[in-house]
Amino acid sequence: MPTIDALAERLLTYLEPDKVELVKRAYEVAKQAHEGQYRRSGDPYIVHPLAVANILASLHMDHETLMAALLHDVIEDTPTTKEELATEFGAAVAELVDGVSKLTQIEFKSKAEAQARNFQKMTLAMAKDIRVILVKLADRLHNMRTLGPLNPEKRRRIATETLDIYAPIAHRLGINSIRVELEDLGFAALHPMRAKYIKKAVKKLRGNHNEIIEDIRGRLESCLSERGLEGQIIGREKHLNSIYKKMKYKQKSFHEIMDVYAFRIITETEDDCYRILGAVHSLYKPLPY
Ligand code: MN
Repeated sequence: MPTIDALAERLLTYLEPDKVELVKRAYEVAKQAHEGQYRRSGDPYIVHPLAVANILASLHMDHETLMAALLHDVIEDTPTTKEELATEFGAAVAELVDGVSKLTQIEFKSKAEAQARNFQKMTLAMAKDIRVILVKLADRLHNMRTLGPLNPEKRRRIATETLDIYAPIAHRLGINSIRVELEDLGFAALHPMRAKYIKKAVKKLRGNHNEIIEDIRGRLESCLSERGLEGQIIGREKHLNSIYKKMKYKQKSFHEIMDVYAFRIITETEDDCYRILGAVHSLYKPLPY
């Protein structure tokens, strides 16, 4: 189980020691406030805010965001007030926690899927400080990772909301790691059997296709170097949700979806980008979308 000491150690790799001390203090206050509360899994409640803070630490967020992450449920779920947080930790942290609580309240009121777009706009507009959204995304990510003990109806509701609202927000903010995980967890919660099937099929393909991937990468590399073009070639495996979406809109089976893998070439300039696109097209014929 993650501990505050382990988190503090991680934070010291990129934050000043006095800032890390503040984060530790926020943890102590949060732990005390949630004393006696438990997660559905049976874990003490503090495990959740600590996990949320860990997600944000991997994005190298600042100390105020991490403090807010640790305290994000205290206004909503304990007698602690915004004013008390402001006195203890300053106005910025208190505002962040208050912002996250307000988002939680909207989420509670607007269940209808039809309102998703509106809610998305509202969410972005409401958060005067983008860090509020980041804490909320990390909160949602941890809740998605621990959906297991909830009843099926609640699980579906949370998964749908995650796919309709939170994954697109993460996408818009360019936080790809969170977006991909939210989408895959949402997909797996809504369609457990299909997710299992695709996961298995991808795994099977992975064995056979490793050589092909390396072969393509090699061909791309020599094609670029022959022409003196600079580009960083990144091969990746497509994730579950994007494969599933494609199967759905193209009405194809998994085995007809050939592009389980994708390549991305990152260039310095727009000019290089088009030259490289031309070079790649001389190597592989483009297919109409
Ligand atoms: Mn929470």
